[in-house]
Amino acid sequence: MTVDHDDGTIEVRDLTKRYRRTTAVNGLSFRVTAGRVTGFLGPNGAGKSTTMRMILGLDHPTSGQALVNGRPFAESTAPLRTVGALLDARAAHGGRTAYHHLLALAESNRIPRRRVTEVLDLVGLADVAGRRVKGFSLGMSQRLGIAAAMLGDPRILIFDEPVNGLDPEGIRWIRGFLRAMAAEGRTVFVSSHLMSEMAETADHLLVIGQGRLVADGSVADVIRSAGQNHVRVRSPQAAELAPLLDRAGGVVQTLADGALAVQELDCARIGEIAAEAGLCLHELSPQRASLEAAFMALTDGAVEYRAASLAGSPS
Ligand code: ADP
Repeated sequence: MTVDHDDGTIEVRDLTKRYRRTTAVNGLSFRVTAGRVTGFLGPNGAGKSTTMRMILGLDHPTSGQALVNGRPFAESTAPLRTVGALLDARAAHGGRTAYHHLLALAESNRIPRRRVTEVLDLVGLADVAGRRVKGFSLGMSQRLGIAAAMLGDPRILIFDEPVNGLDPEGIRWIRGFLRAMAAEGRTVFVSSHLMSEMAETADHLLVIGQGRLVADGSVADVIRSAGQNHVRVRSPQAAELAPLLDRAGGVVQTLADGALAVQELDCARIGEIAAEAGLCLHELSPQRASLEAAFMALTDGAVEYRAASLAGSPS
């Protein structure tokens, strides 16, 4: 039943968290595996932080289970060596220097002093190691939080919205860092409310809306599942063409500029139908769904979507 080897897997089973008025997390089940970046995507308030806190044993589920390496994380005997978490970048004690902040953490977890220097190098803070944390920019605080997470050289990383509020250089750095950690075989579980951000960083996506799983698959799978791809057709005889496409199984919508948006038929088939009827085309172009549109479509009606259609698809 429970896997008890340290394969770096995070698993939640039918996880639910209710607060007095809100169901923050609602029957969530998924697995996060090692060696890839798994993006945990959903609008603000979707339940991402609550889920991560339950995985880390900081919140108790109302029902269901959250397991790290097959066990509740609260039972871990070496927590910092198992999971590196970044939940709130501003959590560091402001009066300490970056070095002393990390040293205190290392000493209380029996991690050797030289590891402090290593993680400062790893996140590019070696030059400011002697500066007090309260003068740090958000980007520097974020790097310090990541350095703290990396102290125990954990196999599993859990980062909540790590790019929030960062400048483009900081965002690029974090992206590269997450990808490098996954390439080393670590489990990288990172949340965001921005689809565009996750599309750049993640190999695999878990999308949630209103506490429920709405998609579990590769970025391409998730976009496809949102069903937004269509063919744009312009014709001076659109009024004659539309019913023919409809009869052939197309789902046809007339757009504000008079063009037709056609789903369920590809360009070739639409061109053939027009040619057979002797109708003239001015435009026949495939339209790819935008990531944001797919995400909105998925999370808007979160309750109506079934996660099962995509759950567990390999990537
Ligand atoms: P996200 O991280 O996706 O933005 P959260 O997990 O922070 O979402 O919040 C999910 C929902 O649970 C929200 O409606 C939020 O207001 C509610 N919530 C979170 N923490 C608490 C709490 N301690 N007490 C009451 N409601 C909470």
